[in-house]
Amino acid sequence: MLEGGRRIFVSIGSNLGRREENCKHATERIDASCRVVRMSSLYETEPWGEKDQPLFVNRVVEIRTALSPFELLDLFKSIETDTGRTPSYRWGPRLIDLDILFYGDMVIDDNVLTIPHPLVHKGRFVLVPMVEIAPEFVHPVLKRNMSELLCSLEDRSKVRRLVS
Ligand code: ADP
Ligand code: MG
Repeated sequence: MLEGGRRIFVSIGSNLGRREENCKHATERIDASCRVVRMSSLYETEPWGEKDQPLFVNRVVEIRTALSPFELLDLFKSIETDTGRTPSYRWGPRLIDLDILFYGDMVIDDNVLTIPHPLVHKGRFVLVPMVEIAPEFVHPVLKRNMSELLCSLEDRSKVRRLVS
């Protein structure tokens, strides 16, 4: 398949240590292997699910790569490990979290990989940065674009754009 055909989106998050630096560093690491073609601002966001933990810094990037979804997952796991991430609990605090949100219109429901990411349409922390860089992108299962999904969201958690 020709590189560039599919729109691939990745969520970058950190809520430990130097959160903004961690996100910027991860963006550079991703760009070294996959081309980052668009990136959102950084946002400070309330944690989703498990509330009793530090605020996150989040951003979304769009990349171009010839790597398959599973190869991408392996790459992201090694970047997470290199960045010093140690095992935590689900939705718990972490130095860096890299999640594949969309891989074009591909739908994958596997033990180790779910695409589209199941939290995409539930949290403002992903939808606000998605709307910034790809408001018209259509969720391949829900068939609604990012702006529409954000408008119909019940999540009211705070998302604040950081000025860089
Ligand atoms: P969280 O669900 O809070 O992001 P982790 O980052 O620890 O938790 O991820 C746990 C596992 O989720 C990973 O080991 C990975 O196999 C799996 N996973 C499933 N779908 C995805 C996805 N779309 N992107 C990244 N990881 C995923
Ligand atoms: Mg993750």
